[in-house]
Amino acid sequence: MKILNPADGSLIRELAEDDAQTVAAKYARARAAQPAWAEVPLGDRLRVIEKFKKLTEARKNELARTLTSETGKPIAQSRNELTALPGRIDFFLQNTKRALDPETVLADAQMREQITREPLGVVANISAWNYPYFVGSNVFVPALLAGNAVLYKPSEIASLTGLAIGEMLHAAGVPQDVFSVLIGSGSTGALLVEQPVDGVFFTGSYATGARIAAACAPRMVKLQLELGGKDPTYVCEDADVITAAESLADGAMYNAGQSCCSVERIYVHERGYERFVAAFVATVRGYKRGDPTDDATYLGPLARAPQLSVLEGQVADAVAKGAKLLVGGKRIARSGNWFEATVLSNVDHRMELMREESFGPIIGIQKVADDAEAVRLVNDTEYGLTAGVYTPDEARARRILAQIRSGSVYWNCCDRVSPRLPWSGVGHSGVGVTLSSYGIQAFTRPKAWHLKAV
Ligand code: NDP
Repeated sequence: MKILNPADGSLIRELAEDDAQTVAAKYARARAAQPAWAEVPLGDRLRVIEKFKKLTEARKNELARTLTSETGKPIAQSRNELTALPGRIDFFLQNTKRALDPETVLADAQMREQITREPLGVVANISAWNYPYFVGSNVFVPALLAGNAVLYKPSEIASLTGLAIGEMLHAAGVPQDVFSVLIGSGSTGALLVEQPVDGVFFTGSYATGARIAAACAPRMVKLQLELGGKDPTYVCEDADVITAAESLADGAMYNAGQSCCSVERIYVHERGYERFVAAFVATVRGYKRGDPTDDATYLGPLARAPQLSVLEGQVADAVAKGAKLLVGGKRIARSGNWFEATVLSNVDHRMELMREESFGPIIGIQKVADDAEAVRLVNDTEYGLTAGVYTPDEARARRILAQIRSGSVYWNCCDRVSPRLPWSGVGHSGVGVTLSSYGIQAFTRPKAWHLKAV
């Protein structure tokens, strides 16, 4: 498998792909190794993960360079991900014991009732490339702490990062067969899902998630899917539209719009619309595009070449239906996967741009008459990952956000993930939860104990 640099199309490295035989062998070794790992005291497993955290800190700059080389993420943003990673891991280090402690729910003279948390066993972790340290560690860290063995399949375009994660976990003390990295494309992922694993934890698109769900259904395997979104924000007329525009431009364009919770649709009250659009366009024009290895770069290339045609298609469809193209709108003629930061106004829900996930540096801004229209449009989607509202009025924000069908809601912020809060989606955004205590317990099976003393 060829690992290409999306900034210029050059070959970085070639890797051997796992095939049916090696996937089955890694599964068998994980199955054999898992019971002993589950017997390791939690305190020792916590120490191993603490050591892994320290290794990521010590290798931060080198890991950031690798991530940038294979995904095109600007180097400052790769370093941001690695800088925030220890905090993410600390949440699990500090909260796993409490989340997994046995619970006594009844204790009277004759009867005691208890709940214990058993590891699932061997779990498959199929991950995305856009934030491989975050979306990966949200799964493999709590999975390993809970006593599971993990078969980790990084995205094809974050394979070098996936291999580095494996190296560091093994160096920290996770036994070789308790965490295995599987290298390959979607077909390797499909081979992994065919193994008799006890849990499948997938991060990626709705289309692939639906295929994986269908493959897992007859086996009754525990399934979690963290999928895409078409994340909306509503800017009220009483908001400081300049601050809102700067914040939302970053929410839409950071990592070239390739975040699961990137802002993908903006609705603005008609009384602030013109000012908001002008400030948004000015902010986007100020972003520096260029070499992702340059510290000053904010906008790099897209990670995947096929996404360029998706974006071109959305622009053409929107313009044909009456949208106004304010900035950008086309691919950039140079080698690598480059697309201009693109802003369209006069958009509506007949346009693909406002319905289908874009996953790129492109945004539609729509004018609305009032809160009721904004809520109706925000909810007019098959997705439901995050949604936000900008207004100084908390009561108004809460009233609006309470009506929105979405896993996470934001007031005066966007594109934000917290390890303390559950991360989940509604509808095509997925099933299951990562992060928070729910996202630790997700890697266990609750066992019910009915204990009668005689
Ligand atoms: P894909 O769905 O294309 O791929 C995700 C992973 O699944 C990759 O490892 C891929 O391998 C693998 N895969 C592909 N086909 C199969 C198959 N048939 N069986 C098993 N595995 C398979 O998504 P992207 O990589 O393009 O990631 C972007 C998507 O992820 C966006 O929709 C984004 O919103 C979503 N996402 C959601 C997050 C959330 O928290 N909700 C977080 C991050 C991203 P390969 O890459 O090698 O083909």
